[in-house]
Amino acid sequence: MRRLNKKGKITLFSFVLIVAAIFIGFQFYKNQTENQTAKAAAGVVKNSISKNVTKEKEVEKPVKQEKVKKTIGNEEKTKHKAKETEVTKENKSSSNEQKKQISKEEEKKAPAKEAEKKEKQDKNHSTETEKTSNNVEKSSEEMRKPSVHMVKPSEEKVVYLTFDDGPSNRVEDLMNILDEYQAKATFFWLEPNIKRFGKEATEAVKRGFSIGLHGVTHDVKKIYASSEAVVNEMTTANTTLKQITGISTRLIRTPYGSYPYMTPKYMQAVNDKGFILWDWNVDSMDWKYRDSRYVNDVIQQVESLESKNITPVILMHDKAETINSLPKLLVYLKKQGFIFKTIDESLVPVQFK
Ligand SMILES: [Zn+2]
Repeated sequence: MRRLNKKGKITLFSFVLIVAAIFIGFQFYKNQTENQTAKAAAGVVKNSISKNVTKEKEVEKPVKQEKVKKTIGNEEKTKHKAKETEVTKENKSSSNEQKKQISKEEEKKAPAKEAEKKEKQDKNHSTETEKTSNNVEKSSEEMRKPSVHMVKPSEEKVVYLTFDDGPSNRVEDLMNILDEYQAKATFFWLEPNIKRFGKEATEAVKRGFSIGLHGVTHDVKKIYASSEAVVNEMTTANTTLKQITGISTRLIRTPYGSYPYMTPKYMQAVNDKGFILWDWNVDSMDWKYRDSRYVNDVIQQVESLESKNITPVILMHDKAETINSLPKLLVYLKKQGFIFKTIDESLVPVQFK
């Protein structure tokens, strides 16, 4: 080997170089391959990690998607429900409309029934109206009862019963008889009798009888002595009436009537004091008959006045004979349809002329 020539040495060196080159090349290749494998492995891991992440993401996604889907689904459900509700409403409304239409159609189909219903309603309404009007009529009739005949004076027959010279010891019986026949009356009282029968006088006022004054003396010479005398007697009687019964009155009747005693001057005097003088148009003459004959006399006079359409104002006296026969007169007047009324201060008085 020592004896290798230059040529051999160069060849050996080249051989070593080649071998070395091959080895290096192999190692390089090997390293590259390993790197590539490692890179490839790393890439797989990366990919797997990423894949796992993706999977996780993918796992999460469906949950979220499910949530979203659920949310959406809920919203959709809500919307759907709303739609359903709308639809239901629509259906209902449509069903209502249909019902309405049906009912309308039924109405169209059965106008007679509707007409009947309407008639019934009208009848009911009219019945109610009638009831109401009846009630109104009843209530108003109750209220109008006294005034109804004032509206139609021609259709009523009124009689004014008047009793002078009381009150007496028979005034209680007189009031009871009058009440028994629902007959109101007017009393023209004398002042001494008011004092004497104060209790009865008060009772008469309470029972609704109308009270007038007849003076104090019942003596022509005294009461008609002067205009002042007439006024004084009436004023005195009124004061006593007020003291005993609590009421005063403007109604007066002078003894024996106004004619011929009450001259214009006298009349002016009592009028100035606010008194309203009442005479009569039916004289019972009970003071003269002193029995039941006055009744027939009164009836004849009433019939005479009735034929002339004049309202009778009957003069009687608070005396036993008159009171005893009074029912006979009251029966007659009621049968004739007369209504008994009291004289009040609003009436135009009947006076002699
Ligand atoms: Zn008299």
